[in-house]
Amino acid sequence: MKNTLLVLIFLLGSQNLFAQTTPIPNQPKLVVGIVIDQMRYDFLYRYYSKYTDGGFKRLMTQGFNCKNAQFNYIPTYTGPGHASIYTGSVPAINGIVSNDWFERESNKSVYVTSDTSYKTVGADNLSGNMSPQRMLTTTITDQLRLSNNFQSKAIGISLKDRGAILPAGHTGNAAYWLDGLTGNWITSSFYMSALPKWVADINAEQQPKKYLSQNWNTLLPIEQYTESTIDSIQYESSLPSDTKPIFPHHLSDSTWVKYDLVKYTPYGNTLLKDFAISTIKNENFGKGTVTDFLTVSFSSTDYVGHLFGPNSIEAEDTYLRLDKDLAEFFSFLDTWVGKNNYLIFLTADHGVAPVPGLAKDYHIPAGVINEISLLDSMKIILNKSFGDTGIILAYENQQLYLNHSLLEHKNITVEGVLNLIQPMLYRQKGYYNSFVIEDLNAATMPDQLKSVLNNSYLPKRSGDIMILYDPYWFGGRIKGTTHGAIFSYDTHVPLLWYGWKIKTGETGTLNHITDIAPTLSYLLNIQEPNGNVGTVINFNK
Ligand SMILES: [Zn+2]
Repeated sequence: MKNTLLVLIFLLGSQNLFAQTTPIPNQPKLVVGIVIDQMRYDFLYRYYSKYTDGGFKRLMTQGFNCKNAQFNYIPTYTGPGHASIYTGSVPAINGIVSNDWFERESNKSVYVTSDTSYKTVGADNLSGNMSPQRMLTTTITDQLRLSNNFQSKAIGISLKDRGAILPAGHTGNAAYWLDGLTGNWITSSFYMSALPKWVADINAEQQPKKYLSQNWNTLLPIEQYTESTIDSIQYESSLPSDTKPIFPHHLSDSTWVKYDLVKYTPYGNTLLKDFAISTIKNENFGKGTVTDFLTVSFSSTDYVGHLFGPNSIEAEDTYLRLDKDLAEFFSFLDTWVGKNNYLIFLTADHGVAPVPGLAKDYHIPAGVINEISLLDSMKIILNKSFGDTGIILAYENQQLYLNHSLLEHKNITVEGVLNLIQPMLYRQKGYYNSFVIEDLNAATMPDQLKSVLNNSYLPKRSGDIMILYDPYWFGGRIKGTTHGAIFSYDTHVPLLWYGWKIKTGETGTLNHITDIAPTLSYLLNIQEPNGNVGTVINFNK
């Protein structure tokens, strides 16, 4: 009996000892969230035969592929995209209704992460007057930090401010992005009062300058880019350093804001990959007893995509080079934290439309709406009826913001305004539908669209009347392309999971972009973000 007791005490003791030296493996050492700005779902397959084994293909063949991941709100832009991925929520709740929106209190347009209460750290300019404070809910990175009394570290990095700031959440240790004016990695005084020495040391190397002193040529012989159109097409925009949109691009000839140019080349992504590795090394990510979280947003794909379009050799080359960068990054993670000790998800903040000129060449309906003249036409109509041009305060994100006190004063309803402008809208090529946002459910539209639209509006930040365009139509320029629509080319994005506890497989089940954060919560055994509307992804089908 006595011996049994001793054995029991010994066993309990050794279990305790075991627990202290080897933490229960219920969380990975490191989570890396990867967002590829403007990556449409089909790009995984479009360039598949040219990808290396270690980049996208590694996640696709050894990880879990959610093949039907869709955005469930509009506008499909970068700010809302990053907010939604990390909050598991939608603009109606997390407040990130666009990249820019009209703010009624200040009577002006505001930028998603601008914040004059904070100053730039790392450069002597205004680029860092930023914070995540317009985001109204917590992120998965916040929840991880909250789960263990802020022992986990979370850092967001990107070429774009909003791509770094929103993912890092309200409690992130840092957000760093590339300042186009100085070529420095900078941050905001929201996070710190001075750059860490390792960031200042990287800035001293002036890497962007080195990349811009060379030409951008294709990775493979140019005739192998059979997935893309010919190099020079009249509806591609040009780099400011070029006279024509053709290879090689002479980067050193730029008359532009010097360092912004590097973002419009695949080298922007390479700089970010190197910075990601430096962040992990210098912050000692993945080496402690708790999980650390790095968010990385590669946005050269978006800059290049806007300028040259998704069917260009430039876009293809950017993806092929990013694939190599990813392969290098993943093999770094293998050695730094060890295979299966890290968890990766890879997705995008939105997709992209083809260049309208290209679609039209092949008889596919597409086009560009001149929103300035559209707004003028609406103002003229209202002016004729009411004798006042001040009824429309702004037309942003395809939403009309109306002057409420003027409407009240003149005894006009929002519906009255809509009824007046609709006959003109019907004559506008590329116009699809318009409705009073507060009365969305009364509009004639498929239910699937209505549920997406219901996720999109927050009364205190949204406009009064929404104007939707036909598929492949958007407001803006004739050359290049954009995104933001409610349709599949802008909403369907890759969603790949890889590493810790992730089995190989794929699913065609509909997953929403808001499912990423609650799935991470489930895998990490922590609470989901406070505005979460997503559901945990089923990896068994
Ligand atoms: Zn974009």
